[in-house]
Amino acid sequence: MKIAMVGSGYVGLVSGACFADFGHDVVCIDKDPSKIEKLKDGIMPIYEPGLDALVESNVKAGRLDFTTDLAQGIKDASAIFIAVGTPSRRGDGHADLSFVYAVAEEIGANLSNDAVIVTKSTVPVGTGDEVERILAKSGTSHRFSVVSNPEFLREGAAIGDFKRPDRIVIGAEDDFGRDVMREVYRPLFLNESPILFTGRRTSELIKYAANAFLATKITFINEMADLCEKVGADVQDVSRGIGMDNRIGAKFLHAGPGYGGSCFPKDTLALLKTAEDYDSPTRIVEAVVKVNDSRKRAMGRKVLDALGGMDAARGKKVALLGLTFKPNTDDMRDSPAIAIAQTLSDAGVEIAAYDPEGMEQAQPLMPKVKMCENPYEAIEGADAIAIVTEWDAFRALDFARVKELAKAPVLVDLRNIYQPDDVRALGFTYDSIGRS
Ligand code: NAD
Repeated sequence: MKIAMVGSGYVGLVSGACFADFGHDVVCIDKDPSKIEKLKDGIMPIYEPGLDALVESNVKAGRLDFTTDLAQGIKDASAIFIAVGTPSRRGDGHADLSFVYAVAEEIGANLSNDAVIVTKSTVPVGTGDEVERILAKSGTSHRFSVVSNPEFLREGAAIGDFKRPDRIVIGAEDDFGRDVMREVYRPLFLNESPILFTGRRTSELIKYAANAFLATKITFINEMADLCEKVGADVQDVSRGIGMDNRIGAKFLHAGPGYGGSCFPKDTLALLKTAEDYDSPTRIVEAVVKVNDSRKRAMGRKVLDALGGMDAARGKKVALLGLTFKPNTDDMRDSPAIAIAQTLSDAGVEIAAYDPEGMEQAQPLMPKVKMCENPYEAIEGADAIAIVTEWDAFRALDFARVKELAKAPVLVDLRNIYQPDDVRALGFTYDSIGRS
């Protein structure tokens, strides 16, 4: 089966490479010529573990190709996926659907065979209806069906998530759409991955409901962490204590500096806008968005406290370890590190930082921050060290070296990767999240 993937970013490229690995013939299309040139030269435009080898082997096998030419790329494809970005629209927080609709127009103008058009991008309820209208208006003589197939992969573990998903959700309105999608995912049927067929609008909403629920879980445990600090409890144990209950589940209960990334912040906002438009408020999600927003700067203030407070902090130096919103990605979109660095900068603090993969993307977002070659360069002369992202590289710091290099042995661990007693025994002043 031939598949076209329009948009070759974190989702499109991983999905395209995985479909090729399942044996389909895949063309990944992107309007960004530099991305396509890199891919043709075997260079990955993003960092995702295992992606380079997967792309290389499938290109070699002749199952994966790249182009900027949409008309050529979608030719003979039975399924055409739309995997372009749906960022927050400036000003009102609605999902910006201009990229999705532009692709729909282009597909309509160039369709040269019957095909199923699949929105893999995260899109608000009703977007599939609009894509269908655009295609109908194009006057194409070919049969088409518009299907919703949201993606649930996580950056950093994207290939495993795509190949072994908890479930595949397909929102289709006719047999043509359902039959083609069954063929697309046949290799996963064999894996016994559960497939849920629903209506298109339901499928669109499932994606937002899932992300909002996960964001709620994170925000809930973050508030519990704040309470733990006040009452003298330990949030790690609270987390374990509630997570062992199967009705709750242990995942997404790690207290930290607040959720970030390319999905949760924009998707929770977009869900609020949909709820508002349909006059059906989602007050829990409203609270989650507010609480999370204020948490990021509060984390900056936590670091200022470790420096002796706002006044004492001016002119001091902080080392930030980790900048991406989570480990194993280079994605900086809405990372808590941005607000933390801004809060510190606003207070006159000098910042040096190290991140294994994210510094190139981070630098334009935090121009005053000095990017370093390794954690120890960042730590040199620092009055406090803050762990912002739990990269493995920070899990076994050489504390003797840290103590020698830093001006003061002060560690603020915003990911709870160390044991307080162990670090304090080494002579450090140590603060973390929800562990008084
Ligand atoms: P991205 O920004 O990494 O990639 C989008 C790509 O689309 C870019 O390379 C861009 O050049 C390309 N593009 C834009 N307009 C185009 C056009 N007209 N023709 C061809 N290419 C075009 O975005 P992403 O992170 O891959 O996200 C894509 C969608 O998937 C979003 O809706 C997002 O919410 C959703 N999603 C993302 C993740 C994730 O972890 N990143 C997970 C699940 C769902």
